[in-house]
Amino acid sequence: MGKSSPQSFFFNCTLCGNNYELSLNEFIVKELPKLLDMDHNRLKESYKNGNLKFYNNKYVNALQFRKSLGKIEAGTMVCFDNEIHVIRGFPKIRRTLMLSKALEKHFNSEVAVEEKMNGYNVRITSLNGKIIAFTRGGYVCPYTTKKAPQIMDLNQFFEEHPDLVICGEMLGTENPYVSHYYPEIGKLGFRIFDIRKKLSNQPLSIKEKRSMLKNYDLPSVRLLGIYKLGDAPSNILELVKELGEDGREGVVIKDLEMQIPPLKYTASQAHDDELIYAFKYPFDLGKAFFFSRVIRESFQAHEMNESTEELGERAQRLGESILYPMLETIKHVAEHEVAGEDLVMDADTIEEAEDFVQHLRDLGVMAKVMEFNDGKAVIRRIHQSTTDKINNYINGGLY
Ligand code: ATP
Ligand code: MG
Repeated sequence: MGKSSPQSFFFNCTLCGNNYELSLNEFIVKELPKLLDMDHNRLKESYKNGNLKFYNNKYVNALQFRKSLGKIEAGTMVCFDNEIHVIRGFPKIRRTLMLSKALEKHFNSEVAVEEKMNGYNVRITSLNGKIIAFTRGGYVCPYTTKKAPQIMDLNQFFEEHPDLVICGEMLGTENPYVSHYYPEIGKLGFRIFDIRKKLSNQPLSIKEKRSMLKNYDLPSVRLLGIYKLGDAPSNILELVKELGEDGREGVVIKDLEMQIPPLKYTASQAHDDELIYAFKYPFDLGKAFFFSRVIRESFQAHEMNESTEELGERAQRLGESILYPMLETIKHVAEHEVAGEDLVMDADTIEEAEDFVQHLRDLGVMAKVMEFNDGKAVIRRIHQSTTDKINNYINGGLY
């Protein structure tokens, strides 16, 4: 991945229609600035310091934005495939801690409230008929690239709309990045939350998106309601309470025209679930997760105006989500020496599972294939700092 840089490649200029040969360097200083409407020095600089990187594998030859640059999001891919296809990164969704004032400040008269589903973000696109799925960071995910077209029929959609990108969440318990149970999903499923244009990243409005997904029989996230701004906070608080009690994550609040960036808001139980996960691997994830989840809980408790009893329950759950998983891991490491998590994924061959593990390693995740049987692979992800530190402390190491 990204090992070799081509000396030159054929370039079909969409602006002038001509075919010609260019070096990558020439492309970056001459064509890319026009394409992205960006100063050539900034692009050249990014390429030099590795934030803009040549990326190639059996799926695609591309330039990958490892970090955002001006208005170009991290994860943006400029793909070379006869023509150039720019698949922009999925924009960050900001969070509201208290709905009442934030919604009023941020949105116009009405908002759409969609369910926020807990899986992993992928962008699916067609490069001249080849359907490819990118992760948030702009890596081709071999697993999703294979699975997404099996879960839903994307051919007609992309035949008729080659200029669009499907943004959605891969979900379910046998999802190798984020395993979460949903009764309607089970082992593996997909829900679409945005349809965006290549190059501009312009999203379709809520109405256009929903009617298009309906026409092509593609699975959409749930639209929980459309509310007048004044009614939205109380309704969302109620919805999010119910979602949390059902083991679901929360909501994303969107402008009907998608002209204003969406906001997210999540359930107390979702915060605790993330703490449980983080404190299973305290020395790898604890610090990064801890503070922000406690902050979310505090503002939510304040806005929900909870009774002493409700507040007590919230506090109890919060404390248990930190202490219990960590204790469990200490006990586990004392007996088995390794803090790891096993995930199950579909794979036709052991090579396919190994390929996925290689993809994880490219992303900086330490993993190995533990078992392969009957089309299922068990992959163990190892949390090294947690393993090392706990082993040290239980053997008398000082803190
Ligand atoms: P971000 O940078 O977008 O905040 P994050 O890694 O912090 O990402 P989350 O807290 O899960 O992620 O929230 C944003 C993500 O929620 C989106 O990137 C998308 O993958 C996911 N998502 C789930 N449902 C929806 C939805 N209905 N609309 C938009 N995004 C959704
Ligand atoms: Mg998420």
